[in-house]
Amino acid sequence: MGEHHRDGGLVIAIDGPSGSGKSSTSRGVANARGLRYLDTGAMYRAMTWWMLRHDVDTGDPVAVAKHVPEPVITVGTDPSAPSIEVDGVDVSTEIRGEEVTGHVSAVSAVPEIRARMLADQRAIITLAGRETGGIVVEGRDITTVVAPDAPVKVFLTASQEARANRRSAEVEGSDVSATLESLTRRDTLDSSRATSPLRQTKDAVELDTTGLTLPEVIDHIVRLAEQAEQSSPTG
Ligand code: C5P
Repeated sequence: MGEHHRDGGLVIAIDGPSGSGKSSTSRGVANARGLRYLDTGAMYRAMTWWMLRHDVDTGDPVAVAKHVPEPVITVGTDPSAPSIEVDGVDVSTEIRGEEVTGHVSAVSAVPEIRARMLADQRAIITLAGRETGGIVVEGRDITTVVAPDAPVKVFLTASQEARANRRSAEVEGSDVSATLESLTRRDTLDSSRATSPLRQTKDAVELDTTGLTLPEVIDHIVRLAEQAEQSSPTG
């Protein structure tokens, strides 16, 4: 199989709004194909967690930009056990809480934050390509900015109702209408920011997951990956 990969390994880029099913899908595809997995949203959440922890005003882009180099973020890319640490602290649970979720879009809109994340993410992708067969990367700007040359690019969507139900089910004790409100607010901010907004490109395959089961969505993307490998032998 390795001979079908380009030098950098296979990259599968997956973008979409919150609750479209990116994480479960990406992990499933990575497991099915023996690839690594990178959740770039977790990295933005980790940066946000650090800013809040250090009392940085997340509404002040200049203050946020000043601290960009400080947090040490360590990401584990095993699709069966993804992990994230900031300054040696495991933050995988805390970054999913309401506080981080409420501030993450503001932090993510700061250009200096995005420049650092881009460099970190490209380094992880390069390493995965060198050491394993490649990586599935999910986020908001993967198909457009982080890995625009990926041979497989997918834009996941789902109805608002389905997205709110999924996100609400993930967070214990949450209420669907409040989740819908927070999700809509975040999508609006993520799609309207000046630097690398969430945007669907023509060359990304759109996949509406509303009426599909998770195995169906995974299978669809695995087939896209197989097609990409067949049409692009040894690089
Ligand atoms: O994917 P998740 O919902 O965990 O992402 C959290 C936030 O991180 C998004 O709402 C967005 O503001 C930001 N993000 C981003 N670019 C990415 C991934 C996430 O701006 N590639």
